[in-house]
Amino acid sequence: MVKDIKSMYEDELKEELAGMGEPSYRAAQVYKWLHSGVKSFDEMTNISKKLREKLVQSYYISSAAIEKKLISDYDDTRKYLFSFRDGEAVESVLMKYHHGYTSCISTQVGCKMGCTFCATGRSGFSRDLTASEMIAQLQAEQQDNNIRISNVVLMGMGEPLDNFDNVIRFLRLVSSEHGMNIGMRHISLSTCGIVPRIYELAEMKLQLTLSVSLHAPNDDIRSRTMPINRRYSIEELLRACRCYSDMTGRRISFEYAMIDGVNDSDECASELAGRLRGMLSHVNLIPVNSVSGTGYKKSKRERMQKFISVLEKAGITATVRRTLGSDINASCGQLRRSLEKEDQ
Ligand code: SAH
Ligand code: SF4
Repeated sequence: MVKDIKSMYEDELKEELAGMGEPSYRAAQVYKWLHSGVKSFDEMTNISKKLREKLVQSYYISSAAIEKKLISDYDDTRKYLFSFRDGEAVESVLMKYHHGYTSCISTQVGCKMGCTFCATGRSGFSRDLTASEMIAQLQAEQQDNNIRISNVVLMGMGEPLDNFDNVIRFLRLVSSEHGMNIGMRHISLSTCGIVPRIYELAEMKLQLTLSVSLHAPNDDIRSRTMPINRRYSIEELLRACRCYSDMTGRRISFEYAMIDGVNDSDECASELAGRLRGMLSHVNLIPVNSVSGTGYKKSKRERMQKFISVLEKAGITATVRRTLGSDINASCGQLRRSLEKEDQ
């Protein structure tokens, strides 16, 4: 069976190539080529033809093929549907900020978590992505736009902590000096709250930003919209978050999608403030994106302002997240879902 060469750490590649009788500097050369985005071994011009032929027989290079691309008329946000060698497809979004390009990538094809407001959650789960398939999304966007990506968010399709080993591998590869060299401080990971994995991540003391999708101030509301809450209560989740910021010194960012009449009352705001008191945190409020079949509507602008003022009076910092690419359904899961409908 051919192996996934771009998911290997530089040390692992060294061992593989040593097995073929190659010196260790050869692994460094191959590693650099792989992470510069080549799609075939033939592009590795400083590697002998003989070795390239051997490599082709034992390994494959993951790449992401552009199936579809949508460009926002408002702000140049680009949304991609990428497919991999087995035909499975995921979405990724490239956003331009004043400090550079940020890419929001997927970590799984679909998701098992079943959050009721989420297009990905409603479409079910196919498989985990490999580390190289996460890297390939970034490389395809860089090549298509002739740019360098400076920030990465794991906020596309899938639950990153449900694909823990591949995600950790991706983080180490993408931040490696001979890889894309994107520092952990420029990476955010968003989770619905798989508590034991948050502790595991805290132990690793990586300098990435942890975003937690909270979306509700109490178990009653949260369990209705996010099934994971029936496994781990808000109290358990916030205990893990406190541990994470104690261990890493990093502030946690809480995502809160505002749904009209569900989680956006003043009572919800004060309850949320009470929960987060004394924690190193920031709350991002996002008007929920309506997904067909959910019946959810976004909260009114005035309601969101009122919600924020209750939080601020209680000393909790919060911002309304700027929504980029709203005309192209930039929140993940929606493009693939609309294609599935076209197919039917
Ligand atoms: N599985 C991870 C990361 C991917 S989802 C997680 O849940 O955190 C990325 C973010 O989009 C999460 O904060 C998620 O709650 C949010 N999201 C999903 N559907 C949404 C919708 N319809 N409107 C607004 N935000 C949504
Ligand atoms: Fe999965 Fe995140 Fe969507 Fe929930 S919000 S279904 S965890 S992708």
